[in-house]
Amino acid sequence: MREPEHTANIIQLRSTLIPEFPSREQSSCHHSNIVVVEDQRLLLCKDCQLWIDPFEYLLRWAARDWAAAKRVIEYRQDLEKLITRIRQLKKEERNIKARLRRLNKP
Ligand SMILES: [Zn+2]
Repeated sequence: MREPEHTANIIQLRSTLIPEFPSREQSSCHHSNIVVVEDQRLLLCKDCQLWIDPFEYLLRWAARDWAAAKRVIEYRQDLEKLITRIRQLKKEERNIKARLRRLNKP
């Protein structure tokens, strides 16, 4: 049987060359031993041998980076509040000491 002419130039890829990606739920590899497989343009975890979609990996990386940047901003705001509170407490301490000195004067 002859193949139709328009499909004659299609190259069949062997299924072993195309790794199966895990679903989003299964792709929760948290190892850091990730290598780039350049010829297949993919990522591979050397610890659990999980193929990782580079775009998914990049998305997770960006999300982690964004969350870390947000936490830094929140920590700086908390720090500013604590510094302001310490200044207020030191001022109250000075006022109380001054009152005590006035009360203790003969
Ligand atoms: Zn892994």
